[in-house]
Amino acid sequence: MNQVSMLINGERVDARDGATFQRRNPLDNTVASTAAAASVADAKAAVAAAARAFPKWSSMGPTERRGLLYKAADALQAREAAFVKAMASETGASHLWAAFNVKLASDGLREAAALTTQIGGEVIPSDVPGSVALGVRQAAGVVLGMAPWNAPVILGVRAIALPLACGNTVVLKGSEICPMTHGLIVEALQDAGLPAGVVNFVTNAPEDAGAIVDAIIAEPAVRRVNFTGSTRVGKIIAMQCAKYLKPSVLELGGKAPLLVLHDADIDAAVQGAAFGAFANSGQICMSTERIIVDNAIADPFVAALKAKATSLPLGDPREGPAVLGSVVDMTTVARCNQLIDDALAKGATLVCGGKADSTLVPATLLDHVTPEMAIYHEESFGPVKAIVRVDGDDEAVACANDNEYGLSAAVFSRDVARAMNVAGRIETGICHVNGPTVHDEAQMPFGGVKASGFGHFGGKAGISEFTDLRWVTVQTTPRHYPF
Ligand code: NAD
Repeated sequence: MNQVSMLINGERVDARDGATFQRRNPLDNTVASTAAAASVADAKAAVAAAARAFPKWSSMGPTERRGLLYKAADALQAREAAFVKAMASETGASHLWAAFNVKLASDGLREAAALTTQIGGEVIPSDVPGSVALGVRQAAGVVLGMAPWNAPVILGVRAIALPLACGNTVVLKGSEICPMTHGLIVEALQDAGLPAGVVNFVTNAPEDAGAIVDAIIAEPAVRRVNFTGSTRVGKIIAMQCAKYLKPSVLELGGKAPLLVLHDADIDAAVQGAAFGAFANSGQICMSTERIIVDNAIADPFVAALKAKATSLPLGDPREGPAVLGSVVDMTTVARCNQLIDDALAKGATLVCGGKADSTLVPATLLDHVTPEMAIYHEESFGPVKAIVRVDGDDEAVACANDNEYGLSAAVFSRDVARAMNVAGRIETGICHVNGPTVHDEAQMPFGGVKASGFGHFGGKAGISEFTDLRWVTVQTTPRHYPF
């Protein structure tokens, strides 16, 4: 049951040596899926299939390519129930989060489809008489995409949709934590009728990740790499890419600050903070990790946020609707418990929630957090969030920037001009005024700075990541040469 095959050259295949690995449910430890454990030879076969499919796919007209991607979006949406089930069993995610994943991932495929006719270029004035000079965007080749488990449909699709729209062929390396969920994406693309070899799918046992990824990056046909995951692994990937001179897009960890300035609409800030902090139990790269609130309104704000947080339903996602499902594993529970112990020992106060002894972790808020505490700096990647009290905008900005990460941020204020000025001073790739830190749309330039990585996925910014810009000239009159 729940066997996951790889996809190489249009064929669903097991590993050549028959090796498999298991993913277990975080709540009851039952086997959620059994997936093929690729060898280096399997991984190389996937790259070879993608390389063979590249000439035809890259020269296919944009309308035909667009049609296939639209079909893939429909095929993905038609599998919503299967995605909901797979995510609940592999990652413990709630129905709400899984359904949102399918919706946004389908939007991602449709947006990519729409961009097939936008991969243009420019005519550049030349100083050489009679020379027509063009800057032409062209598909790069085989793209390796690596996606994590936390928003598995959105990020699995993101890793390949725009690369495909640009005319590249792809190898998707599935997460060891959700191979079945990632496999469903590939099934949808196959059902849509993408030609054999255009999309390839490789799964590997956790202990083989380094060797498999290294082998794929080393293949000459691989021309771009994208990775979404932790900063720790992102740095390893960046070093591998440097070794083989492969350009990469790295979307890594975050520690998003949400600033509540003294004139904020408290209700709006509470709604934004609760959604940003606790959607998918705080396991989103854009999750609100630090709530930075002005002392002038901190007491009423924290009281209202406590009321909201304690009202959020928590439960086994397989048994019914919940806002907070299971977190992904006991490592997350241990990390969150440690962050709580450390903060309380150093003077923080527990507003609500607290330590857990299973993967059902309640919405937890720690107030009066200071820089001495680990939770001030470290990504909890769970539903345990810090409140830091500050005096005035300058202190709020300094606190927001006092962190290695720089992905998303939010500022709440009734004075939009003031909030925009504060937003301009925050060192992140993304910032929302009077909106939550968790906000993603396929057409937006999504990307971080500092330890959150570099490069962008969405829209036109993504086109420049996954194409080569070439300078092409045509000499239309006799050319003058100096000798
Ligand atoms: P992770 O980095 O632990 O694992 C990601 C992948 O790295 C795994 O699938 C694994 O195969 C691979 N890997 C592990 N060791 C490797 C090695 N030595 N060489 C090559 N590859 C190796 O991340 P995760 O736990 O799956 O995801 C959570 C992290 O992802 C969080 O930090 C989160 O903030 C981040 N994230 C970022 C974004 C974004 O867009 N910026 C989105 C979602 C998640």
